[in-house]
Order: sequence, then C-alpha cells, then structure tokens
Amino acid sequence: MKRATLCVQAGYEPGNGEPRILPIYQSTTYKYDSSAELASLFDLETPGHMYTRISNPTVDCVERKVAALEGGVGAMMTSSGQAASLISVLNIASSGDNFIMMGNLYGGTTNLFLVTMRRMGIEARVVSPEMSDDEILSFFDERTRLFFGETIANPSLAVFDFDRFAPLVHSKGVPLIIDNTFATPILCRPFEHGADIVIHSTTKYMDGHASVVGGMIVDGGTFDWEKGSKYPELTEPDESYHGVVYTKTFGRAAYITKARTQLMRDLGSTPQPIAAFLLNMGLETLDLRIRRHSENAMRVAEYLSTRTDLIKSVSYPGLASSPEHERALKYLDGGLSSGVVSFSMKGGRENAMKFMDSLSLASIVVHVADARTSVLNPASTTHRQLSDEMLINAGIDPGFVRFSVGIEDVEDIIADIEGALSVCR
Ligand SMILES: *Cc1c(COP(=O)(O)O)cnc(C)c1O
Repeated sequence: MKRATLCVQAGYEPGNGEPRILPIYQSTTYKYDSSAELASLFDLETPGHMYTRISNPTVDCVERKVAALEGGVGAMMTSSGQAASLISVLNIASSGDNFIMMGNLYGGTTNLFLVTMRRMGIEARVVSPEMSDDEILSFFDERTRLFFGETIANPSLAVFDFDRFAPLVHSKGVPLIIDNTFATPILCRPFEHGADIVIHSTTKYMDGHASVVGGMIVDGGTFDWEKGSKYPELTEPDESYHGVVYTKTFGRAAYITKARTQLMRDLGSTPQPIAAFLLNMGLETLDLRIRRHSENAMRVAEYLSTRTDLIKSVSYPGLASSPEHERALKYLDGGLSSGVVSFSMKGGRENAMKFMDSLSLASIVVHVADARTSVLNPASTTHRQLSDEMLINAGIDPGFVRFSVGIEDVEDIIADIEGALSVCR
C-alpha cells in the first residue's frame, strides 16, 4: 500500500464486530488462564502483552503503523523524542564506547549526547559535512558504535547527504541512525537511502496538533550485527533474560526487540495508551498535512526572499537558491521540504523581537511543526543569556527567526508576515 493509505489503514485491523476505531486499552496488566502461558511470555517464547511498561495493545498498533510507514521490521514508541534518541544509542553503546554525531543536531539531542551521555561514559564525537571523508573517518576507532544524523536538521535545515555518509559509515562496520522528525516518512524514508535505524520525535508533525509528547524508534532490519563481532550485547547471551541471544532468536528484529525487552523494561520511558491513541489520530492525516505544510512553507520562503529591504537571508531547502536544494530534490519527495523556514532579519535581535511581537496569526511558542503557524527567535528566548557577540560565535545570528509554517490558508500567513514587517525598520 502507498504511504497515504498506510497513514489511515495500517496497524489496526479490527475483527468481526470489534470497534472500528483503535480502542484505548487503559490497562497496566493482562490476564492469563495459566501460569505456564505467562511463563512462556516471560521467556520471550510466545508473543503477547504482560505489563504496560513493556507493551500495550493500543501502543502496539501505532508502532505497527509507523514501522509500515518507514518500511522497517519493527518499532517501539517511547514517552518522548528524547527517550527515543537516548535508547537508540544506549541499545548498542556502553561506558567506554563512543559514537559520531553530526554537529547540526537538535539542541536537546546535542545536550543529551555531549553532556548527559558523556557523564555516563559514552563519548559523542562531532563531525560536519565541510570535513573531508578522510577527516571524518579519522574520528572512528574500534570503540565507535554508530553514526547519528538528522534528515532535515533542526533548526539549520541542512539536508543529510545519505549517498555520501551511508557508505562511509558502513565501511567502518557501524550502523547509521537517522532522526527523521522534520521530514517524516512521507517526505523521506531513510531506510531506502542506507539508514539502519530511524528515530522520531512524534511530538512534531506526526502528532501534528501540539497535543502529545512522544517518540519512536524504528528498526530497518538491515544491519548485520554479527559481522565483525562488534555488538556482543546483541550476539551473545543476555544474562538478564535467561541467556537469550537476540540475533539468534529474533533475527532481523534483534535490535528493536532488545530495546524493548531490556531497555524499556529497565528504563521505563513508556508512552501512555492515550498518547498512542492521540498520535494515531495525527498520523491518519500526516500525508495531507505534511504536503500542505511544505507547499505553504515554500510560498512563505519565496515571499520572504523578495523582502531584501528587511531580511538578510532566508534558509529553506525548497528554494532553488538554497545550498541544500540539490539534496532536497534527491532525498525529499519532489523537493517538498517540510514546514520550517529560517531567516535572519536586518537590525538584529531588536527587529526580530519587534517582528514577532507584531504578528497576530502566528503565535510565539517554544515548539515547531504543528498545524498552527508559530515563530521563535532564539536570541530572545532559548539563547537569551548570550550576548550578541556570543551568539555570533555560536553560529546564531541575533536576528535569526525560526518560522514554523502551519496549514492555514497561505494568503493569511503571508498577510500576517507582511503586516509585522511593516512595523520594522
Ligand atoms: C523536538 C525534537 C526532538 C526531541 O523530541 P521531544 O519529543 O521534544 O522529546 C528530537 N529531535 C528533533 C529533530 C526534534 O525536533
């Protein structure tokens, strides 16, 4: 089935006389007729639910839907995107190991990887696309476990160069993990371009209504964990599970099975059944919404590009003038580039704040990627402790505005921008 159909139909198939709409199984536990049945569940011999910290029927259906959309062998929903990033790395890295990350990751991921994970003894090494292949390869050693990047980086909007990085990463015998939050599987399916594991903050376009925080890990089932004997946690007995060997028992689904039976069991970053239900409602319209977000964002980017009187630069991969455009055409569906447009205002922080305060349809929020148009100026919010000079050193223009284009009528969005710009000088 095509992706628009999967959005609506995948994951839940009611039997005769059962509810047509995915029910919310608001239960922490499950009843069994015999202790032998439960024992075989505990031994991972038969599939089934035993406790909602580990799995739940409502959550399970949504996981199946996202696995189908990405073209993976299995998925696990988490309580947030942060939990998905954390578990995706912890599943194959321990204290003393390291991994490689792109320097343009989402700020929350960057903090997690460079501060918190470092305290856990796992070292993230930062690379950038400007480096040569040899330079990038020099960051790998025998304790390097994975490479982590974003399809469309938040907020730089750089488009990941799969054809360059996937072979490079695989030549070192490690998997490529991709955060596909901004593109969603509608605009890009990273597994088709060499990624091995995909993660999502479902809080953004997948939910799409700014109503529920969540995350997802999807296993492409493509990576050969046995080759090179680098991943004993998957290829040798797990003593916390009566010696199960994940690659032997679960084959292509080894990674995602271990993430659930071991890490979700131990860490408990569990989504609530109601969160899965709400996410499923969002997913039903994802194909429609992300196309509309992309079309609207393109129109907004084009309009902003004409306002050279007040706007220094516009960044949007869909613009033919963007350095990301070639990759957008190659990896995103027909160059549809999702809903976030970044731009820099002349007149710095002061003008950016004046512009934002003068908007009426677009709201000022610490969020992106939902149905409502919203706007954020890092210099006056998330990075406000920094002086202009410090911001510039950190690569952030004080007049930088991140504009998340919603699915309203684009004429209204542009009129709102035009009105707010008329107040600026
Ligand atoms: C928001 C975001 C995250 C973190 O997700 P939460 O659901 O907020 O925990 C991770 N990656 C990207 C690209 C994001 O935009």
